[in-house]
Amino acid sequence: MDRKKLWIGGQWIEAKKYVQLRSPYSGEVIAEIPSADLEETEAAIAAAYEARASMAALHAHERATILERLALAIEKRSDEAARLLAFEAAKPFTTAKAEVARTVQTYKFAAEEAKRIHGETIPLDAAPGGENKLAYTVREPIGVVGAITPFNFPLNLVAHKVGPAIAAGNTIVLKPASQTPLSAYLIAELLDEAGLPSGALNIVTGSGSVVGNRIVEDNRVSMITFTGSPEVGIGIRSRAGLKRVTLELGSNSALLIDRGVDIDGIINRCVTGAFSNQGQVCISLQRIYTHEDVYDRFTAKFAEAAGRLKQGDPLDPATELSALISEGDTARAMEWIDEAREAGATVVTGGTVQNGIVAPTVITNAYAELKVSCQEVFAPIAVINKVSTMEEAFELVNNSRYGLQAGIYTENLRTALDAAGKLHVGGVMINDIPTFRVDHMPYGGVKESGIGREGIKYAVEEMTELKLVVINR
Ligand code: NAP
Repeated sequence: MDRKKLWIGGQWIEAKKYVQLRSPYSGEVIAEIPSADLEETEAAIAAAYEARASMAALHAHERATILERLALAIEKRSDEAARLLAFEAAKPFTTAKAEVARTVQTYKFAAEEAKRIHGETIPLDAAPGGENKLAYTVREPIGVVGAITPFNFPLNLVAHKVGPAIAAGNTIVLKPASQTPLSAYLIAELLDEAGLPSGALNIVTGSGSVVGNRIVEDNRVSMITFTGSPEVGIGIRSRAGLKRVTLELGSNSALLIDRGVDIDGIINRCVTGAFSNQGQVCISLQRIYTHEDVYDRFTAKFAEAAGRLKQGDPLDPATELSALISEGDTARAMEWIDEAREAGATVVTGGTVQNGIVAPTVITNAYAELKVSCQEVFAPIAVINKVSTMEEAFELVNNSRYGLQAGIYTENLRTALDAAGKLHVGGVMINDIPTFRVDHMPYGGVKESGIGREGIKYAVEEMTELKLVVINR
C-alpha cells in the first residue's frame, strides 16, 4: 500500500500522524495519507514564504517552460492519473480521462498566460497637474497563495490554482480535499521534475479545520483561493482578514427549455449535464424549467435516457455512473428524495440505491422549497418543472441562493437575449446546458456561488498586485 509524505520545501517529509484513505466505491484501503498538524502546516507556509524571491526572479519564459513540461508529463501519464481519480473519487474512468485531458489544457493555458502578464501606460496629462509625467502599471506576484480544493475535480481544480499561481510567479501552499490527495501529490512529483524551484509548491494534507484554518489565518499568506461548499467558503472569508480571497462555491444550476426546441437533439446533452460524475459537479444540471408545450415529451425521454446509464465499478471504462463520494452523501441524497416523495413530488425514475450507487433520479412536481430544488443536491438528481412562459422561468431560476451558470435552449433570439440579460448568474449558456465549461473562459458566480473569477487569465489578475510607476520628466 502506498504511504504518502508531506511535500514541503521541495522534500518529502514523514508526517507525525497518518489516516487511511478508502475507495468510495469498494471501501478498500488504497493509501495512507499524512494528517498534518499545526506545526507541519506552518513549516509548509514558511517554505512558501522563503521561496517567494526565487519564484519572483524567474522570467516569464522560464515559468512558461515549467508549466509546459508539466502539461506534457501529465499527458504522458494520463492513464495513471485517471486511475488515481477513479480510485480516490470513484470517478468513472472515462470521465476521469476527460478530466485529465482538461487538466493538460489548463496547464497549457497557464504556460501561455505566463507570457502575457503586463500592465498599461496611463495618460496622466489628462488631469491638470499630470503634465510631463510618464506613468505605467506592472503586475507583480501577490506572494504566497493558499489554495484549498474540493474532491470533485481533484486534478483540474488544483490546476486552476497551481497553474495561474506559477504563471504569475507566486508560491503555493495547497491543501487538497481529504478524500482526494493522491492526484495532488502526483502534481508535486511532476512539478519537481519540471524544474519548479524548491518551496514554490507545498502540499499539506489533513483536516480542513486544522490545516485549512491555519493557512487562512497565517499573515505570511497573501491570498486564499478556495473551491468548495458555500458554508466553508463563507467561514474562510470571515477569517481571512485583509487577504485577497476568491471563492468558487456551489450551485443548483438551472436549464430553461423553450417551446419549439428539438427535444430529441438535446436529450443526451441534458443527461450528461445532470448525471456526469454522479451529479457531483458545481454546475451540474439540477433544475430544469420546461415550456408546457414540450414538458411531457422532454420528461419522458429524459427519464428514459437517464435510466439507461450504466452503473458500476469506476475502473470499468463502460461505467457511466458510480458511487457518491461518501456513505454520508448517499444517505443525504436518499433523505432528500424521500422528503420530496412525502411532499407529493413524483419520482419518475430512480430514487433507489443499489450496491452503494444512487440510481439516476428524475423528479417532477417538486415545489421550490424542497431541498432537491433549493439546495445544492451534488448527487444524480434532477428536478423538472413545467412553466407557461420563459419570463416565469427567469424568475424561478433567480429565486435561488446561488448563481453560478444557467442555460437556455430556445429558437427565439429575443428570448435568448432576455435570458442573457435577466438571469442573475456568472455565465449564461445559450443553446447549451449550464454545465458547459472550457478552462480559459471566465468562470465564477454571484450570490452564494462565490466571488472572483477563475479561467487562467482571470485568476492571474486575482493573483497579482497592480503597481503604478510614475516618472517625472
Ligand atoms: P468542502 O467540504 O467545502 O471542502 C472543500 C475544501 O475545504 C476541502 O479541502 C476541505 O477539507 C476544506 N475545508 C473544510 N473545512 C475547512 C475549514 N474550516 N477551513 C478551511 N478549509 C476547510 O467541499 P467538497 O465537499 O470537497 O466539494 C463540494 C463543493 O464544492 C460543492 O458545494 C461544489 O459546488 C463546490 N465546487 C465548486 C466549484 C466551483 O468552481 N464553483 C467547483 C467544484 C466544486 P477536507 O476535505 O479535509 O474537509
